[in-house]
Amino acid sequence: MRPVVLCFSGLDPSGGAGLQADIEAIGQAGAYATVACTAITIQSSQQVLGFEACAADLVEAQATTVLDDLPVAVIKSGMLGTTDNIAMLTRLFAEGVITEGTPFVLDPVLVANSGGSLGDEQTLVTAFRKLLPYATLLTPNTHELRALSGEQDLHIGAQTLCTQGADAVLVKTSHDFDSGDINQYLYTEGKMVHQSTLPRLTGEFHGSGCSLASFIAGRLAMGDALIDAIKAADSWITQTLQAADVPHPDDASAQLIPNRFVRV
Ligand code: PLP
Repeated sequence: MRPVVLCFSGLDPSGGAGLQADIEAIGQAGAYATVACTAITIQSSQQVLGFEACAADLVEAQATTVLDDLPVAVIKSGMLGTTDNIAMLTRLFAEGVITEGTPFVLDPVLVANSGGSLGDEQTLVTAFRKLLPYATLLTPNTHELRALSGEQDLHIGAQTLCTQGADAVLVKTSHDFDSGDINQYLYTEGKMVHQSTLPRLTGEFHGSGCSLASFIAGRLAMGDALIDAIKAADSWITQTLQAADVPHPDDASAQLIPNRFVRV
């Protein structure tokens, strides 16, 4: 069987982000995606209109059924939606329901790219801090990094999140729209171990963060070292954005949807 990634993520009916992004990205990385659905959102490709989170025991039952059935190699989480869901996932790690040492890519989703809320930010931040010690890789956007670390400076923020327990933190300036090129930094144990610059493509993209984090999770499941997984994901995400679908060609400010079926 292909290496299995278990994702905790929400349903985005527009298909750009959330569990659909996870399934497609992980498949493109060569691995096999399974999903415990954490929330059902109501959203278009352009905006979040609302969501209903799944109860933590329902999410847990989905996850443990997969864990009992399939050889899960990597865990990935995206939108968790409630502090109950974050606490439940923390407990699955703490109690060894998820085998100790299983790599975990934590995308600490707080808000959508469009700015729409995907949970109560302050309570989610508090709950996420307890989940950080289980993260092999944390993939915050700049807003999430600042909210989680309480620091404005991205480098100090990344170091803080390492101190709070994440093994590695991948910082990307893609959501700082006035920052020119996109800079990417990887911190482990509070030190920058990798730095790269990617050209900023025109447009805003719906689901790029989910796609990137999931592709990395898929490559980790395939056996890549962290740095190789990140480099492979960078090259792949750039291609998906260059080939993005344009749902509203007459509106230059409308979000585009990554085409995750580019050849790799
Ligand atoms: N998860 C879900 C279910 C979402 O709907 C969204 C955004 O709309 C996200 C995660 C985060 O998406 P992005 O990759 O654009 O940060």
